[in-house]
Amino acid sequence: MISSMVSIPADGPTPDRPRWRTQTEPPHTPLRPMWCCRACGHPWPCSTARLLLRTEYEKNAAGLSIYLAGLMYKAMRDLYHLNPHDGQSPREMFERFIAWGPFRRSII
Ligand SMILES: [Zn+2]
Repeated sequence: MISSMVSIPADGPTPDRPRWRTQTEPPHTPLRPMWCCRACGHPWPCSTARLLLRTEYEKNAAGLSIYLAGLMYKAMRDLYHLNPHDGQSPREMFERFIAWGPFRRSII
């Protein structure tokens, strides 16, 4: 069977961005497996993380989209495992992780 020959996808990117740091506060990076922000507690990416990511990837929009898509994949695995019945829908996950990014386009 072909499906047994297909390798399992890798775990995706390391959620260590945005890389901007201060000496006194935790970074606005995701805290797994809940995917809330380490610094402010909002669902990641919080507004500060989005701003910092846009700045960090200012000259690499495709890289930001790839990074966000990889993290959405990781977050879906974590969050659907934690809350398999009434978590965010795939559409809500797309809007949370990708739709705000550089290649915004309606999915309808
Ligand atoms: Zn934050």
